[in-house]
Amino acid sequence: MVEKIYTIPINEAYDRAMTEDVVECPFCLIDEMLDKNETERVMGAAMMEPDVRIETNKLGFCRTHFDKMFKMGNRLGLGLILESHVAEVEKNVFSSGTLLDTQGKKEEEKLSSLAASCYVCRRKAEAISKMFGTTVFLWETEEDFRRKHKEQRCFCLNHYKTLLSCGRANLDKKQFKSFYDETRDVMKKYISSLGDDVSWFCKKFDYRYDNEPWYNAKDSIPRAINFLSGGINKQDE
Ligand SMILES: [Zn+2]
Ligand SMILES: [Zn+2]
Repeated sequence: MVEKIYTIPINEAYDRAMTEDVVECPFCLIDEMLDKNETERVMGAAMMEPDVRIETNKLGFCRTHFDKMFKMGNRLGLGLILESHVAEVEKNVFSSGTLLDTQGKKEEEKLSSLAASCYVCRRKAEAISKMFGTTVFLWETEEDFRRKHKEQRCFCLNHYKTLLSCGRANLDKKQFKSFYDETRDVMKKYISSLGDDVSWFCKKFDYRYDNEPWYNAKDSIPRAINFLSGGINKQDE
């Protein structure tokens, strides 16, 4: 059973990725949307929910999300989250074993996991994994979505990998071959044009090309970075 809460944002991201001036990966658009929603949620309505607080106390946040939360300006809200999180960290840091005894390894593992976890990143990862499953299901069952999938302009390297793995895990052999071919075609076209654009960008630094047009090369550097490591263009920030 497909849930509408996933199909709607996927269709919206596919539509946007096909029509916006700047070429983006649809899953990077979804990632951006989830990031915004989850950060606003934890700093808003969910902040005082005891269940959420138990989780945020335990997991904490990564630097990226702390920075986003800090910039949102609700200093008291962030203070309250930190008050109980720091108390929990204090308890955990000194809870069991020390590096001086046989429990040393356990202590190291515990400290690593305390430093590495993030409540927002974990919520996002859970949501995006469901989104990939739903995407493959939509491709399998809806003609219109399949057309949109073929007409996508770009998948970033990381999301391309996840998309193929998800298709392989969920489709039968024959279906997967079509999915694989169609998804690879999008990728082939994009990498080839991106390579040309980056080359043209470099050529434009040569005075002999001064009077030539830029074609699609002007934003090719941020697009290449997005393609290789994920993320969307934020030239207005
Ligand atoms: Zn992406
Ligand atoms: Zn995070």
